[in-house]
Amino acid sequence: MQRIAIAPSQLQQGQILLTPQQQHYLGRVLRLRTGDRFIAMDGMGQWWLAQLEGDNAQVLEPMVVQTELRATITLILALPKGNTFDDVVRCCTELGVAIIAPVMSERTLLKPSPQKLERWQRIAQEAAEQSERSFVPTILEPVSFSTALSSANDQQYICVARGNSPHLRDCLQDIGQITNDNGQRTIVIAVGPEGGWTQKEVECATDAGFQTVSLGRRILRAVTAPIVALSIVVAELESEKFGNYK
Ligand code: SAM
Repeated sequence: MQRIAIAPSQLQQGQILLTPQQQHYLGRVLRLRTGDRFIAMDGMGQWWLAQLEGDNAQVLEPMVVQTELRATITLILALPKGNTFDDVVRCCTELGVAIIAPVMSERTLLKPSPQKLERWQRIAQEAAEQSERSFVPTILEPVSFSTALSSANDQQYICVARGNSPHLRDCLQDIGQITNDNGQRTIVIAVGPEGGWTQKEVECATDAGFQTVSLGRRILRAVTAPIVALSIVVAELESEKFGNYK
């Protein structure tokens, strides 16, 4: 069934007040007619089965979706070159990330243009729809790396390409104890730019409570590393070995 993202404010008294763009998309692009059904998602975890009624839609019933992870995963990502961040946003959304925090690090080459954030949000929305997620990840405004550091989270890791850091998989704590508490637990992972983090940045992160981790013995590209890191966390969170997953 076709899905569209709506803003929570569009839902009023059992009706979805469609924007002209949504009317065009449903009517002209998807060729739905009055009486046809589709899924409306508010990007905050709620889905509804809806029926097109002229220019608006009638909510038929709320839907239960179970495509979200048991923990909130935040990726702090130093911005890589060119448009490669688009792919990172798309893949990490498919994998289940909740928040992407793009950061300018000491070795970041480019400062993104203001249109980039809008573009990434659109990519995240499309990827969330495609992968049947009930939640569209939040893409934060790019800030400096030091501004993005916070010590308020349960588990925080900074990926460092060289040295003797333990493997991320061996560091994830209490994954089995994370019950389905609506993503209350937060896991934060920071990945550096092409040139890597500076020593000072790694020290700032460890001072803020981040643990340095390895993603294996090979040096991964800045666009590959977040996908690998996220895959490791997701595989652990969804492992059958933890009976509480289902
Ligand atoms: N130029 C850097 C160097 O030679 O050390 C490599 C940077 S790597 C291309 C970009 C980022 O990906 C790193 O800052 C790190 O966060 C992450 N990364 C890549 N490979 C990694 C690995 N094997 N373990 C942990 N992090 C890795």
